[in-house]
Amino acid sequence: MSDNCIFCKIASKRIPVEPLYEDENFIAFHDMNPQAPVHALVIPKTHFETIMELDDEALMVGAFRAVQATAKALNLTEEGFRTVINCRENGGQTVYHLHFHILGGRFMQWPPG
Ligand code: AMP
Ligand code: ZN
Repeated sequence: MSDNCIFCKIASKRIPVEPLYEDENFIAFHDMNPQAPVHALVIPKTHFETIMELDDEALMVGAFRAVQATAKALNLTEEGFRTVINCRENGGQTVYHLHFHILGGRFMQWPPG
Protein backbone atom coordinates (compact mmCIF):
# COMPACT_ATOMS: atom_id res chain seq x y z
CA MET A 1 0.00 0.00 0.00
CA SER A 2 1.18 3.49 -0.82
CA ASP A 3 0.21 6.03 1.87
CA ASN A 4 -0.83 8.91 -0.35
CA CYS A 5 -2.30 6.87 -3.19
CA ILE A 6 -6.00 7.59 -3.70
CA PHE A 7 -6.71 4.17 -5.19
CA CYS A 8 -4.93 2.38 -2.32
CA LYS A 9 -7.29 4.29 -0.02
CA ILE A 10 -10.27 3.07 -2.05
CA ALA A 11 -8.92 -0.50 -2.13
CA SER A 12 -8.47 -0.52 1.65
CA LYS A 13 -11.93 1.08 2.18
CA ARG A 14 -10.45 4.19 3.83
CA ILE A 15 -12.35 6.03 1.09
CA PRO A 16 -15.72 4.31 0.62
CA VAL A 17 -17.06 3.57 -2.86
CA GLU A 18 -20.04 1.57 -4.05
CA PRO A 19 -18.37 -1.51 -5.57
CA LEU A 20 -19.62 -2.55 -9.00
CA TYR A 21 -17.58 -5.72 -8.67
CA GLU A 22 -15.17 -6.99 -6.05
CA ASP A 23 -13.07 -10.08 -5.47
CA GLU A 24 -10.03 -10.92 -3.37
CA ASN A 25 -7.63 -8.97 -5.61
CA PHE A 26 -9.68 -6.37 -7.51
CA ILE A 27 -12.40 -3.79 -6.96
CA ALA A 28 -14.42 -1.85 -9.55
CA PHE A 29 -16.25 1.43 -9.05
CA HIS A 30 -17.62 4.38 -11.04
CA ASP A 31 -15.13 6.97 -12.29
CA MET A 32 -15.84 10.29 -10.55
CA ASN A 33 -15.34 12.23 -13.82
CA PRO A 34 -17.12 10.06 -16.40
CA GLN A 35 -16.05 10.36 -20.05
CA ALA A 36 -18.96 8.24 -21.33
CA PRO A 37 -22.48 7.38 -20.12
CA VAL A 38 -20.88 4.43 -18.33
CA HIS A 39 -17.33 4.84 -17.04
CA ALA A 40 -15.96 2.44 -14.47
CA LEU A 41 -12.49 1.72 -13.14
CA VAL A 42 -11.12 -1.69 -12.17
CA ILE A 43 -8.13 -1.57 -9.84
CA PRO A 44 -5.95 -4.19 -8.22
CA LYS A 45 -5.99 -4.01 -4.41
CA THR A 46 -2.20 -4.16 -4.50
CA HIS A 47 -0.34 -1.02 -5.55
CA PHE A 48 1.34 -1.15 -8.97
CA GLU A 49 2.30 2.22 -10.44
CA THR A 50 1.63 1.25 -14.05
CA ILE A 51 0.89 -1.79 -16.19
CA MET A 52 4.67 -2.25 -16.56
CA GLU A 53 5.06 -3.17 -12.88
CA LEU A 54 2.44 -5.95 -13.02
CA ASP A 55 4.35 -9.23 -13.29
CA ASP A 56 2.22 -11.68 -11.32
CA GLU A 57 0.57 -14.04 -13.79
CA ALA A 58 -2.34 -14.89 -11.51
CA LEU A 59 -3.10 -11.18 -11.15
CA MET A 60 -2.81 -10.67 -14.90
CA VAL A 61 -5.44 -13.34 -15.47
CA GLY A 62 -7.48 -12.01 -12.56
CA ALA A 63 -7.48 -8.52 -14.08
CA PHE A 64 -9.09 -9.80 -17.27
CA ARG A 65 -11.64 -11.73 -15.24
CA ALA A 66 -12.41 -8.62 -13.17
CA VAL A 67 -12.85 -6.50 -16.33
CA GLN A 68 -15.17 -9.15 -17.80
CA ALA A 69 -17.20 -9.40 -14.59
CA THR A 70 -17.49 -5.61 -14.29
CA ALA A 71 -18.61 -5.26 -17.92
CA LYS A 72 -21.23 -7.95 -17.25
CA ALA A 73 -22.40 -6.23 -14.08
CA LEU A 74 -22.83 -3.01 -16.08
CA ASN A 75 -24.75 -4.81 -18.88
CA LEU A 76 -22.21 -3.73 -21.47
CA THR A 77 -21.38 -7.05 -23.06
CA GLU A 78 -23.98 -7.01 -25.85
CA GLU A 79 -23.48 -3.42 -27.08
CA GLY A 80 -19.77 -3.52 -26.39
CA PHE A 81 -17.43 -1.23 -24.54
CA ARG A 82 -13.83 -0.03 -24.50
CA THR A 83 -11.13 -0.97 -22.00
CA VAL A 84 -8.23 1.45 -21.67
CA ILE A 85 -5.02 1.38 -19.66
CA ASN A 86 -3.14 4.66 -19.73
CA CYS A 87 0.60 4.40 -19.04
CA ARG A 88 2.70 7.36 -17.87
CA GLU A 89 2.91 10.79 -19.54
CA ASN A 90 2.26 9.96 -23.18
CA GLY A 91 -0.53 7.59 -22.23
CA GLY A 92 -2.26 10.32 -20.25
CA GLN A 93 -2.02 8.55 -16.88
CA THR A 94 -2.89 10.81 -13.96
CA VAL A 95 -3.31 8.32 -11.11
CA TYR A 96 -0.22 6.17 -10.62
CA HIS A 97 -2.01 3.07 -9.37
CA LEU A 98 -2.77 0.64 -12.20
CA HIS A 99 -6.36 0.83 -13.37
CA PHE A 100 -8.48 -0.37 -16.25
CA HIS A 101 -11.03 2.08 -17.61
CA ILE A 102 -14.29 0.54 -18.86
CA LEU A 103 -16.16 2.96 -21.10
CA GLY A 104 -19.55 2.26 -22.59
CA GLY A 105 -23.04 3.47 -23.40
CA ARG A 106 -22.01 5.26 -26.61
CA PHE A 107 -19.94 4.62 -29.75
CA MET A 108 -16.23 5.08 -29.13
CA GLN A 109 -14.28 6.91 -31.83
CA TRP A 110 -11.02 5.59 -33.23
CA PRO A 111 -8.26 6.74 -33.28
CA PRO A 112 -8.41 8.08 -29.71
CA GLY A 113 -7.33 11.68 -29.08
P1 AMP B 1 -5.91 8.06 -15.69
O1 AMP B 1 -5.93 9.41 -16.34
O2 AMP B 1 -5.90 6.92 -16.68
O3 AMP B 1 -4.81 7.93 -14.66
O4 AMP B 1 -7.30 7.92 -14.97
C1 AMP B 1 -7.53 8.28 -13.65
C2 AMP B 1 -9.01 8.29 -13.47
O5 AMP B 1 -9.32 8.21 -12.10
C3 AMP B 1 -9.70 9.54 -14.01
O6 AMP B 1 -10.67 9.17 -14.98
C4 AMP B 1 -10.34 10.17 -12.77
O7 AMP B 1 -11.58 10.75 -13.05
C5 AMP B 1 -10.47 8.96 -11.86
N1 AMP B 1 -10.48 9.24 -10.43
C6 AMP B 1 -9.54 9.90 -9.71
N2 AMP B 1 -9.84 9.90 -8.40
C7 AMP B 1 -11.00 9.20 -8.28
C8 AMP B 1 -11.84 8.85 -7.19
N3 AMP B 1 -11.56 9.23 -5.92
N4 AMP B 1 -12.97 8.15 -7.44
C9 AMP B 1 -13.28 7.78 -8.69
N5 AMP B 1 -12.52 8.06 -9.77
C10 AMP B 1 -11.41 8.77 -9.57
ZN1 ZN C 1 -2.04 2.67 -4.85
